[in-house]
Amino acid sequence: LNQLYRPLNILGFAYREIKQALTDLERMFQLLEEPPEVIDAEQATDIKNVRGQVEFDAVDFHYEPDREILRGLSFKAEPGQTVAVVGPTGAGKSTLSRILYRFYDIAGGSVRIDGRDIRDITQASLRAAIGMVPQDTVLFNDTIGYNIAYARPDASQAEIEQAARDAQIHDFIASLPLGYDTMVGERGLKLSGGEKQRVAIARTLLKNPAILILDEATSALDSATEVDIQAALGLASQGRTTLVVAHRLSTIQDADLILVMDQGQIVERGTHAELLAKAGLYADLWTRQDTTELA
Ligand code: ADP
Repeated sequence: LNQLYRPLNILGFAYREIKQALTDLERMFQLLEEPPEVIDAEQATDIKNVRGQVEFDAVDFHYEPDREILRGLSFKAEPGQTVAVVGPTGAGKSTLSRILYRFYDIAGGSVRIDGRDIRDITQASLRAAIGMVPQDTVLFNDTIGYNIAYARPDASQAEIEQAARDAQIHDFIASLPLGYDTMVGERGLKLSGGEKQRVAIARTLLKNPAILILDEATSALDSATEVDIQAALGLASQGRTTLVVAHRLSTIQDADLILVMDQGQIVERGTHAELLAKAGLYADLWTRQDTTELA
């Protein structure tokens, strides 16, 4: 029996090794989210002590050379301001956030943070300055605590819990038998869209970036979850320049600037009150919306 035991043991060991290697590979692919064509310029330097002024200056952009997506798009956010972008599906709202995070380079114009063109900034320091709460967060196959802390591996348990509290997800986590050690992701506990988004908010709060990009979930959330998430997002955007890709008008009334986009152009801009007074497209959307989503 002993003779059989040893090889089986080795097999088991090999199995665990391979499984770990696959998990690492998967993690690597998740981290390699940026398209390879975006590379640091030779003279690129780190951006430090970011104040958070964000400016799009006459930006032209296309994904494919023969199909222009943005043309001459400009707007500016001062440090701490919230800019909300609304408009129909395909208008180019999410494209703005991808450009700011520099998933893609632009074809013309300039995108600047604190007056510096983001092409002259190292990608590592650029992305350290920006927090991104996407529509659909991919969680690592690891504990929920790891998933919150992963942008700040040195964070203490107390800091992780504070971030989770501010993101309105602590009570949920605390109610799980294994708490912060609960495995999540494909092979662990499946979280709802709203729970995943709150994990992403907690992660961002812990990272504490000067600039925040929020891509609101399009999927309908129940109203209690919606209220929780709005509270969490409100906290997350405080003291940070925030770009919100909004899918519901109800969530952006307090924005410092609302951009109404259509087919890659900003067709109206202003505060909620200014846009209502204009009696244009935004006012139209506002009147027509009941509980329905925009895009
Ligand atoms: P919105 O967020 O307003 O719904 P997007 O910014 O996602 O719009 O898309 C703007 C336009 O760019 C759409 O016409 C869309 O089809 C196109 N687009 C988005 N992503 C890609 C991509 N990866 N490759 C090619 N075209 C894309």
